[in-house]
Amino acid sequence: MSESERLCLEVLKTIGKTLSQMNLYNPAHPAVRAMLAEAVRVLSTILAEIPEGTLAYSLDADKVIANGRIVGPVRDLPSSIGNTFTRFKLNSVTFAAGVTEEELSAFCQLAALRPEAAKTVVPAKFLSEKGVSRILLNEALYAKVDRLPDGSPAPAETGAPAGGPSGASAAGTPGSGGAVEGMGEGGGGTGGAAEAVEKVQGEPIEKTIEVLAHRATMDRGEQSRIYGTVMQKIRAELEVKVQEATRELKRQATTLQNEQVRTQAVLSNVAEGVVVVDDSGRVLMMNPAAEELYGSSLAEMAGKPLSEHVKEEHLLALSKETVVPNDKPVQGEVAVSGKDDTRRTLRASTAIVQTEAGKPVGVVSTLSDVTKYREAQKMQREFVAHVTHELRSPLTAIRAALEILEGAVSSKLKADEQRIMTNALRNTDRLEDLVNSILDFSKIESGQMTVYPKPARPELLVQESLDSMLPWVQKKGLRVETACPSSLPTVNADPKRTVQVFVNLLSNAIKFTPAGGTVRIGAGPSRDGSRAVCFFVSDTGPGIPKADQQKIFEKFIQIASGEKHVGGTGLGLAIAKAFVHLQQGQMWVESEPGKGANFQFTLPCYIPTAEEVAARPVAKPKPWWKRLLGLK
Ligand code: ADP
Repeated sequence: MSESERLCLEVLKTIGKTLSQMNLYNPAHPAVRAMLAEAVRVLSTILAEIPEGTLAYSLDADKVIANGRIVGPVRDLPSSIGNTFTRFKLNSVTFAAGVTEEELSAFCQLAALRPEAAKTVVPAKFLSEKGVSRILLNEALYAKVDRLPDGSPAPAETGAPAGGPSGASAAGTPGSGGAVEGMGEGGGGTGGAAEAVEKVQGEPIEKTIEVLAHRATMDRGEQSRIYGTVMQKIRAELEVKVQEATRELKRQATTLQNEQVRTQAVLSNVAEGVVVVDDSGRVLMMNPAAEELYGSSLAEMAGKPLSEHVKEEHLLALSKETVVPNDKPVQGEVAVSGKDDTRRTLRASTAIVQTEAGKPVGVVSTLSDVTKYREAQKMQREFVAHVTHELRSPLTAIRAALEILEGAVSSKLKADEQRIMTNALRNTDRLEDLVNSILDFSKIESGQMTVYPKPARPELLVQESLDSMLPWVQKKGLRVETACPSSLPTVNADPKRTVQVFVNLLSNAIKFTPAGGTVRIGAGPSRDGSRAVCFFVSDTGPGIPKADQQKIFEKFIQIASGEKHVGGTGLGLAIAKAFVHLQQGQMWVESEPGKGANFQFTLPCYIPTAEEVAARPVAKPKPWWKRLLGLK
């Protein structure tokens, strides 16, 4: 197919799409206007190439003809185009250079008329009343019919055209325009029946009746009367039959139309944005809320690929992925840059639309703007971080004051007063811990926490952590065991944060293990064979039920462990796990109620750089005699 043929077909296809849009929206709707503009653009391109400046379309059986050349099969066109030709008995439709969007809109309005309305309209008059001068309709003189009322086969072709831009479309009567041929001058009753039958072979019904009338009488007036009466009868009967056949269709069409109006009203009023794209990812429809969210109007988006306006990987993937076998609801949060450059966070819920046969025909996506919610969350986090930070300075001052006071007056205090003083100091400690935990956690949540990994020896990490907790272990009457072979590889870890992880785990182990119990701390090779070291803190406390083993790593989660509540913030494990993740490790717990808990985490092995490897001192081989004598 040549480019010009493709363009010729494209014009009719675009008009067909405009007609479908007109069924959904009014002619002034941006979606319709966008289609019309596109059709006029293509038309103007073609017309610019044609010297005579006109492009006449006609449909012949299954072919589309433009200016006398076949440009493609009728089946490639939307059915509304064929219907327009049939309904208005058009032989051809001619577009002249300079045709405007308004003129094409008028033509589409004519073509989109409901069947009852179409019946009462004279097409050429309809157009001329709307000021259309560059679209010319050439109406057929006779209607095509499939069968004669008596059941005999229908003639193959229509009558001659009436011609002219506003040619009359009334069905011809004998002698009313020279359209009917084969009726010899004064030939009434001439020729035999066989000759008459032959004459009407392959002729339209009108002609057949004419011939019969001609055979019935010589009188032209009589002939005309017979013709008129028979034609009227046929029309009336056809009308009744067609009405019967179309009654159910009309009912269904009305139901569909009502549903469409209802759906459209609902869609335009829902607060969430709804976007519908076709199977090739082009935007078919979007409601006002979606227009607002994307910052683009439907007129700009209609018929264009969603990808031109949307940066959402998630939606794009879906609009391409139209071969999904089942309806597949998908949910996700995506960021969209609107026209005004505001970044919005949308929660998109998307589903593939399929026909009953399972053929995907498009995607519907509903978008709710959760930007405000995200902003509120961020503000909340910032507020907590700010307040906690502000709490720190007065707290430090209180602690300093208490310590000075204790140093100065402790010798003079009675036992009761001393207890009050110790309590005040202990509570200050707890408050400080809490403030530090909250600060750490808000930093982690807002992504501002950074770790500084460097080569670190596992046994030193274990020892340093244990040292800081040893007084508490001893005070509580617990036994401590360490197990950390010095053969373990060096890890890549932030020592300060790793000790903090250990301290959080150890303080839990100490807190929850009753006196006389054992706390074990140490490290070993990673069990899954990865280049990592696996650290652990285990105890002989009450353990943690399976159902809670995931939950305890969430923030502010505390579960009833053992008989009594031992205090805490519920942040310790969440912070520890976050620190391990920040250092590319994993953390988990193994436990059975009543049999203690074993918290474990991995840290990656340190991989020396090429320069470090090169700079390593090469061990000199031992002389043979030292090896022989087993000397160092
Ligand atoms: P908390 O400040 O309450 O200790 P964590 O996040 O450190 O907060 O711990 C969360 C919860 O996990 C604790 O309240 C406790 O119920 C449970 N838990 C943590 N470690 C242990 C342990 N070694 N033995 C039993 N339960 C534990």
